[in-house]
Amino acid sequence: MRDELLAKEKISRLLEPPAADRDAVRKQVIDYIEHFINTIDTAKAYNVNYGNGDGLFSSPISDDPIAIEEALSLLSSHVDIPGLNPASGGHLGYIPGGGIYYAALGDFLADIFNRYAGIYFAGPGAVRMENLLIQWIAGIMKYPSQAIGNLTSGGSIANLIGIVCARDASQIKSCDFDKAVIYLTKQVHHSVDKAIRIAGLKECIVRRIPMDAGYRMKADDLRRAIEHDKSKGLIPFLVIASAGTTDVGAVDPLEEIGAIAQKQNIWYHIDAAYGGFFMLTEEGEKKLKGIESSDTLVVDPHKGLFLPYGSGVLLAKDGKQLKASHSYQANYMQDASQTTEEISPADVSPELTKHFRGLRLWLPLKLMGVKPFSACLEEKLLLTKYFYHEIQRIGFEVGEKPDLSVVTYRYIPKHGDANEFNKRLCEEVQRDGRIFISSTLLDGKFTLRAAILSFRTHLQTVDLLLNVMAEKVKMLERA
Ligand SMILES: *Cc1c(COP(=O)(O)O)cnc(C)c1O
Repeated sequence: MRDELLAKEKISRLLEPPAADRDAVRKQVIDYIEHFINTIDTAKAYNVNYGNGDGLFSSPISDDPIAIEEALSLLSSHVDIPGLNPASGGHLGYIPGGGIYYAALGDFLADIFNRYAGIYFAGPGAVRMENLLIQWIAGIMKYPSQAIGNLTSGGSIANLIGIVCARDASQIKSCDFDKAVIYLTKQVHHSVDKAIRIAGLKECIVRRIPMDAGYRMKADDLRRAIEHDKSKGLIPFLVIASAGTTDVGAVDPLEEIGAIAQKQNIWYHIDAAYGGFFMLTEEGEKKLKGIESSDTLVVDPHKGLFLPYGSGVLLAKDGKQLKASHSYQANYMQDASQTTEEISPADVSPELTKHFRGLRLWLPLKLMGVKPFSACLEEKLLLTKYFYHEIQRIGFEVGEKPDLSVVTYRYIPKHGDANEFNKRLCEEVQRDGRIFISSTLLDGKFTLRAAILSFRTHLQTVDLLLNVMAEKVKMLERA
């Protein structure tokens, strides 16, 4: 038995590489990272011609170890080059992500120490750190100090938690589904529709409230719809507003909707996954006025705070409801039952064991302070105004003045179909790859979008986009 144990131990100890090996591998990884960051300004934002990652299959998972050089080479060829480069400042499609360096070091620390951030009993400091960050974010959003929340993997899960909370607070049961009404617009993010379904609410009545010319919910129509539904004996229980739609960056009239929700006594959920952190700017604060009147609120640090993917936040004004929906007890957890007021993430989320995701936010905030974050957001708002102005000067049509940092625009060609032209224009820009833009369909019109939110997007990037657009229009008009 002892011999057998020692034999197994010899192999299992390979999981703890010695210092010299750690050092060698770490150096290679750091070199690879440094090269990436040092050349990011000239790297493409989109690579169409470098395969689709299927080269990974040529190196299956097996008992044969490979060297770090080979692993990095596989990573480079098949993962880090093909497709979209979300770390590039030239990524102006969808909603750009981030990837600030100190967040990665925070993850590195979190992974090595592997502190348990699910339950206060196990990781009191880790849990307090996450709650401190949630309090900080709640303060930015002008939520009261008794508000609580959860650091999630992203906006989708945060929306799900919020919607489950709204369902339970309103005591909506399956027997109510054909009478229960949810209000939102067509521009709500699809993760909201998905969350409604996952929360078991797909048989509820979902009313898409009309929007104004800038794709913002018409508050008067909302009020009328609720009153009408109530008079019919229906149960209006939830209104969902967007604070920055993904499509066009529009902010619903948050304050007016809040007043209606309060008067009608229905749950108010705001999806501010994209726009919420503009609250760190003076202009954003004005645009997002009324955000604090929601009952639950979603923001995404992996968008507005430039963190790497994997960071969303759900805030709830009424902590009791959030806990009632998500806490659970089990016999094998009896040692871990609450002894303090400190909220355990496991009690306000579907997750139990989870990544210590607070550290990736705490470390950059502590090492750099808040100012670079707010300045970067102010810069994005200014760049958006600049682009909105300059793209018109080179002959493009634009949508309404942007509420935040998404510009919609299209080119009307001298000849031929405008939709077809803009589709080809978008494809040409993507093929070129220096800048990545995406498109949308607005009232049947093929429309280009520039979403300016990467921390690496600066004046030089937007000038490059303007040059690329002018160049491609000229090329297509000649063709
Ligand atoms: C990105 C986004 C979401 C979804 O968040 P994920 O972090 O991608 O899960 C939800 N709502 C809006 C408005 C978004 O922009």
